[in-house]
Amino acid sequence: LAEVLEHEQHLPSRTPDGYDMPLMVNTGLAVDAVASLKPRISGVGLYRTEVPFMVTERFPGEQEQTRLYRDQLESFAPLPVVMRTLDIGGDKDLPYFPIEEANPFLGWRGIRVTLDHPEVLMVQLRAMLRASQGLDNLQVLLPMITNVDEVDAAQRLLERAIVELGEEGVVVPRPKVGVMIEVPATLYQLDALAERADFFSVGSNDLTQYLLAVDRNNPRVADLYDACHPAVLSAMATLASESRRLDMPVSVCGELAGDPAGALLLMGMGFGALSMNAPSLPRVRAAIRRVSLSDAQQLVDQTLRLDSPGEVRRHLDARMAEWD
Ligand code: PEP
Ligand code: MG
Repeated sequence: LAEVLEHEQHLPSRTPDGYDMPLMVNTGLAVDAVASLKPRISGVGLYRTEVPFMVTERFPGEQEQTRLYRDQLESFAPLPVVMRTLDIGGDKDLPYFPIEEANPFLGWRGIRVTLDHPEVLMVQLRAMLRASQGLDNLQVLLPMITNVDEVDAAQRLLERAIVELGEEGVVVPRPKVGVMIEVPATLYQLDALAERADFFSVGSNDLTQYLLAVDRNNPRVADLYDACHPAVLSAMATLASESRRLDMPVSVCGELAGDPAGALLLMGMGFGALSMNAPSLPRVRAAIRRVSLSDAQQLVDQTLRLDSPGEVRRHLDARMAEWD
């Protein structure tokens, strides 16, 4: 099976009825390991910038960050690279920037931290912009957005970084800016968010955690953590259709996109791209090459009618076995 999958990696992620589903890769460290995927993917859907920050002894400076980001952008150009601004807090701690809280997942996380420390965000945005000079494939993604003011504030800092760099003789175009949809509140603010951003990227890991009120890392409640919970799937279907109504590009970069059954559901719902860890690509590509878009749409209709996570899992397992 591994050999079959390996062979298929060079073929397009196209369904039997001719629909091309763009697949992207999530990156963090070691760009070399994934750069070879370039001919088989549509870009980097999520570069988690906090990952390189976790292995240094202090905040990397602007030069150092520029080198890191340039590496990513160059390795994949002209394909888009979606760089997420620092998403620390929650379970991701920097040894040199400890955050101690009783409820870290409900606390000082992602954009909340970087807007409280604009000097940190400015260095990061300047480094991203400098790294993108002459390449034009940078997109910026904002994590943990809960309200539109955060988007406005981040956009203002980005604007300031562009102006500052221009005054220093570094002329760069304004990159597209995306909002992560991972806090349930954003589901009810899509119109207002769409006015302020260029694309949505759904973080199904956190969206699942926050919709179900289940800590994604707590083994005691691990059985309850399920991205195929009917409420999560219903939210995902709404996100796909509302984004279409708003004419907003929308992709998914959480683990659900890297699960073959999950990927088929997301394709059937109408998401524009699926971004996943590199090891998930072969099985997702194989699933897409075996299941038509119309079958995937039918799978969505069937699945959305089910009431419990267990029923959903059993149904997906049964259909996946048919297609194997
Ligand atoms: C997510 O929440 O689904 C996501 C992609 O981001 P992270 O896993 O880094 O929180
Ligand atoms: Mg997240």
